Amino acid sequence: MCRSCAAPTGPNDLSAGTGHPLPGLSRRGLLAGLGLGALTVGLSAGAEARAVAAEALSAGAVAVAAARNGAWAGPAQGRFPAGGHYGAPRGGGSHAGQDVSNSTGTAVYAAAAGTVIRRSWGGGLPGRTGNGLVISHGGGQYTYYGHLSAYRVGLNATVSAGQRIADMGATGNVTGPHLHFETHTGALGTTVNPVSFLAARGVDLAGGWSRIDPGASGATVVVIQHLMNQRGYGLVVDGAYGSVSADAVKRFQRSKGLVADGQVGPATWPVLVYTLRQGGSGSHVRALQTALNRRSAGLVVDGGFGSVTTSAVRTYQSVNRLVADGEAGPVTWRALTG
Ligand SMILES: [Zn+2]
Repeated sequence: MCRSCAAPTGPNDLSAGTGHPLPGLSRRGLLAGLGLGALTVGLSAGAEARAVAAEALSAGAVAVAAARNGAWAGPAQGRFPAGGHYGAPRGGGSHAGQDVSNSTGTAVYAAAAGTVIRRSWGGGLPGRTGNGLVISHGGGQYTYYGHLSAYRVGLNATVSAGQRIADMGATGNVTGPHLHFETHTGALGTTVNPVSFLAARGVDLAGGWSRIDPGASGATVVVIQHLMNQRGYGLVVDGAYGSVSADAVKRFQRSKGLVADGQVGPATWPVLVYTLRQGGSGSHVRALQTALNRRSAGLVVDGGFGSVTTSAVRTYQSVNRLVADGEAGPVTWRALTG
């Protein structure tokens, strides 16, 4: 785990160079828009600044309300080391992230789509050490990845959710190899607990099955639709988890004796996926190929489980420290779709 990586306790203005948290809105305009313009009279500068900060945070939270919408992905496979939790004491400060331990070279993935805005020691954040990446996800949301052994994306690169961006390492002030993972919301520098932040977005940072709710969209929805089609539901594979797909999933859940809530989560995934190996073909293989591509495999989605797909499964398993047998069973599916 980290020996330091604590957020400073003093003023922590990191907005310079990263853009205003709410571009296009002046402080006065923001207050006026909130009907608070008159209140600024008589407020001390400090109180006004605090009011603006609180309202800006609130506005940011409204703009990017948490949802289990398939937009987020687990950044790394591993375990939570003792003392590596968010808020743990760190030399007078407070641990700014959640540590995920595994061996050096374990794949690290973008937690959501965005732009790489920092690629430097400690990500340029105070108190952090080691090779670091910061991704801006828009809406005042940022993620930080620390102690990396290698970068796999350039500064200013545009990344997708689940794209491989780095390798886990032990650079900086650490006791061993791990990913130090932070989530910032409202502005860069304002950390929140990454475990609860991701849980609210359907991702289990500890490595469990994801949760995908009706209304979601993206690659994981494509995976679900292909798996449902293998089960005969005849869905249009458009990556949009609308009412037709959700109703089909509810029928599937009912047929399996599950709660028919339309959420593809820890109860539904295990009965929805197939154990697949070389020689298989069909929509379930398309689902697997799509899930592998979400993790940067670069496969042609043709529904045929040939040697190229086997190799991709093996590589994925190897860089995530799973049993590298080239067979996609529940453990591999859980990691891929997490
Ligand atoms: Zn840490």
